[in-house]
Amino acid sequence: MNYSKKFIVEPGSSIRLKDLEPSFSKKNVKKISSIKEIKKLQEKMDEFQFRLFTEKKHALLIVLQAPDAGGKDGVVRHVIGSMNPQGCRVVSFKKPTQKELAHDFLWRIKRQVPKPGEVVIFNRSHYEDVLVVRVHDLVPKEVWSTRYEQINDFEQRLIAKDTHILKFFLHISKEEQLRRFKQRLNDPTRQWKISEEDYAEREYWASYEEAYEDALSKCSTDKAPWFVIPSDKKWFRNLAISKIIVEAMEKFGIEFPEPSVNIEDIRRKYHTAVHEGKKGERSSTNK
Ligand code: ATP
Ligand code: MG
Repeated sequence: MNYSKKFIVEPGSSIRLKDLEPSFSKKNVKKISSIKEIKKLQEKMDEFQFRLFTEKKHALLIVLQAPDAGGKDGVVRHVIGSMNPQGCRVVSFKKPTQKELAHDFLWRIKRQVPKPGEVVIFNRSHYEDVLVVRVHDLVPKEVWSTRYEQINDFEQRLIAKDTHILKFFLHISKEEQLRRFKQRLNDPTRQWKISEEDYAEREYWASYEEAYEDALSKCSTDKAPWFVIPSDKKWFRNLAISKIIVEAMEKFGIEFPEPSVNIEDIRRKYHTAVHEGKKGERSSTNK
């Protein structure tokens, strides 16, 4: 199965989340074998990141959006955690501060985009400004409705500067969210995560769905596509995202930089038998 094709929001199409399964199942995709596969994919991601880091020309931006308990943290840990922290950054966007609110909504985002050679993961992102902001009327419709185009322009400018962009919406069902909240209640190590606000947001589930549908449909582009990942099963979510990242990386075709020296010269100069102290050969050169 080609995961990118299966879960991409086709640019120009209008999606309905109700038509998409939050709990994907396929007979030949099993949890046990997926764990091994994810390991292999992690090695590939790690190698790709190393190439990107040494090449210092391209960058990769991964955007994660999801309802509360949708699994953003899990993706950061299990999927992207395999990359070398040197050259990889996770940025979480919370409620904007007074200072941030005094600027345009993209101001705080622009400051965090990846530099050449970097992989940056946005845990929530500029899309909050057409999601929570729209659902809760934090700005008037005349303001948020212009943001889709601004977001597309912003992303196109990043792409023009050799930044690859992949955007993932972790699609969970309302029932699965409640189940995860309940698990948190029963787990002393995760009780700190519970907030009443999370329960209150469930009242707005339908409005969020509508806002997501618009954001995903209007802002999925050829070069900065959105993927809707069935995320009720955590292992499948991790597998699908890892696959899509690797499939994309393979297309980027990033090569190691050309050496700045003549490798043969260096080999001759410093790695002859004399330098490497090989016994038999040393005695013959000593003669
Ligand atoms: P966790 O999984 O730990 O709960 P989280 O991403 O939900 O992580 P929180 O601190 O619980 O982190 O929530 C951050 C909150 O900030 C979210 O409710 C989100 O909607 C809100 N937020 C993010 N960006 C904006 C924005 N631009 N305007 C208003 N609210 C925002
Ligand atoms: Mg939260």
